[in-house]
Amino acid sequence: MSVNITEIFGSNVFSTDVMRERLPKGVFREVMDVMENGGNISIETADIVANAMKDWAVEKGATHYTHWFQPLTGITAEKHDSFLTRPENSRTLLQLTGKQLIMGESDASSFPSGGLRSTHYARGYTAWDMTSPAFVKEMTAGTILCIPTIFVSYHGEALDKKTPLLRSMNALSNQAIRVLKLFGKDVDYVSTTVGPEQEYFLIKKEDYEARQDLILTGRTLFGAPSAKGQELEEHYFGVIRPEVSAFMKELDEELWKLGIPAKTKHNEVAPCQHELAPIFDTTNVAIDHNLLTMEMMKKLAPKYGLVCLQHEKPFEGVNGSGKHNNWSLSTDTGVNLLSPGETPHENAQFLLFLAAVIQAVDDYQGLLRASVATAGNDHRLGANEAPPAIISMFLGDELTEILEAIENSTDYSQKDKTEMKVGVHILPRFPKDTTDRNRTSPFAFTGNKFEFRMLGSKSSISGPNIVLNTIVAEAFKEAADMLEKAEDFDMAVHDFIKETLAAHKRIIFNGNGYSDEWVAEAERRGLPNIRSMVDAIPALTTDKAVKLFEAFGVFTRAELESRSEVEYENYSKAINIEARTMYDMASKSIIPAVIKYTTQLASSIAAVKGVCQEADVSTQTELLIETSKLLAEIKTALARLLEVTEKAAAAEGGKVQALVYHSQVVPAMEALRAPVDQLEMIVDKELWPMPSYGDLIFEV
Ligand code: ADP
Ligand code: MG
Repeated sequence: MSVNITEIFGSNVFSTDVMRERLPKGVFREVMDVMENGGNISIETADIVANAMKDWAVEKGATHYTHWFQPLTGITAEKHDSFLTRPENSRTLLQLTGKQLIMGESDASSFPSGGLRSTHYARGYTAWDMTSPAFVKEMTAGTILCIPTIFVSYHGEALDKKTPLLRSMNALSNQAIRVLKLFGKDVDYVSTTVGPEQEYFLIKKEDYEARQDLILTGRTLFGAPSAKGQELEEHYFGVIRPEVSAFMKELDEELWKLGIPAKTKHNEVAPCQHELAPIFDTTNVAIDHNLLTMEMMKKLAPKYGLVCLQHEKPFEGVNGSGKHNNWSLSTDTGVNLLSPGETPHENAQFLLFLAAVIQAVDDYQGLLRASVATAGNDHRLGANEAPPAIISMFLGDELTEILEAIENSTDYSQKDKTEMKVGVHILPRFPKDTTDRNRTSPFAFTGNKFEFRMLGSKSSISGPNIVLNTIVAEAFKEAADMLEKAEDFDMAVHDFIKETLAAHKRIIFNGNGYSDEWVAEAERRGLPNIRSMVDAIPALTTDKAVKLFEAFGVFTRAELESRSEVEYENYSKAINIEARTMYDMASKSIIPAVIKYTTQLASSIAAVKGVCQEADVSTQTELLIETSKLLAEIKTALARLLEVTEKAAAAEGGKVQALVYHSQVVPAMEALRAPVDQLEMIVDKELWPMPSYGDLIFEV
């Protein structure tokens, strides 16, 4: 059946167009004004908007509404209330009041707060985020009107991921406006734009259901490598399988209805791995959309006999899944500020923004690293497939040469004898697209945007964008403070770029980020190499971080401390579940299977010998010896795993506990996996209690 994209696109969104059509002119203008300039709408206006929204949603089949928010769990939360009301004086049966639209109350105690709540009230409040449009979601349970909201405590502390994001977007806008003003440009708002590329795996539902580890933890905790790996690279951009194709088609359509501009879909490097990229959008909208995309993927896959895995590393030995965060800055008139210009003046502005980003990334590597730290991402970063755990920036040879020429006050090109004084003399036209795309860089300039590639596939992209926006806001502020006082503006711009480069060029690296030489070189340059989540989290609460976030009103110290507490808790919980799942699988199904196999071997030896004394049973005997040896190793490893898991579970919470999980439980898990994976290669396939890697990712 053919689909008319323009007809369905955004059909489930209470968009600006819908509001223009359905709201009285004055009300519409008030709403637009608040959306563009901030502030609050009056309660009378809210009543009118709420009623129009309810009517629209009911026409779409909605029976319930929910405040849709993004608590620190990393997923979205909703509580459904029906529109039903008791008709007292009126005959209205269905109702959504202005108050219900703009404000909600939620029992915050069921969401992680990292201790913020205990000091105040157990209540949390949700408040309408007018900059993200409301939408209806079709679910098996019915159709629901979703009102995007922020989630805060009684005292206004952020209990979610959206509040600080919106704060960081404002901070960046304010500083960017100052810089632009100096270049003679008067803009009302500068937003950050994001296009997240989402990677995921699709495997057969029956295989998934036969693996307790996938069900409980989202990744395989055991599994010998398959005879065939991803070395042939035949999957990348390969032909998409029919059931996957059908899944993708419906996914696209459902996303389009929600106004999500799903654009490209293709197979990824690993077998069964795929990617979906939307057209970029303003950051908060892009984040809502990414969360909805992930939810929709999970929801639709079973219809096609598939399960969507969004874990960062479902399978050892094949690539994991990341989420590339393409990030740029755009004025309210749609001008991309990270696009090289046509004139010297424009190029000076571009280079200034670029230099500021370089400074920000170098100054706050730790925060960027912390923003992508999860227990799952520990398996990717630094593991020779994803970017390394070291933060560096790729600019491409051409741009690097231009910056070096400015730094050294030399000519950029021999052919082009122009003096590199930005804004005064002529700069060569920049290439719009850097040809030497570097896939190994964690933070790459790709022509007119930066691509932050360390993010894991499973997490919300809020955290990394909050950090990016805030650290860049600070660099812009420094530039603006200095330039506003400058007597010779062009010279000051030139000097800022030159000095910034001299101070921060260690962060620029255009080579192969996967190589051992880079690890050694990065160490010489003094760039940190933070390999695990527990080592990354402390960056969130350093004095430097607190000062930065408080200066821009993005996080208070208390909010940062609570978030770091939640991170440690998340880590401990994740490892605890994994360890216990491993324990369960090993003791209840793997050991019994191996014992069965040893019994078979022993009976075979006895039977053969019983019939024929001279027969050679050395193969069975060797297998029996090897299997029994590995079985004993499993037993020892299992005892050790139980001991350290109990120790960790009993440890004092927070950082202390997370460290025990990291330093003792994780190695004990690895020690258990090793003999099990060896046994999987030996034991009769019929006896092995779960589908192998070969079954899971090749025989689809
Ligand atoms: P690839 O990296 O696969 O070559 P593209 O460069 O076309 O693909 O874009 C990747 C993602 O970057 C897409 O989601 C796209 O919408 C997004 N993107 C493009 N321009 C911008 C921008 N100015 N700001 C944010 N994201 C952008
Ligand atoms: Mg990309």
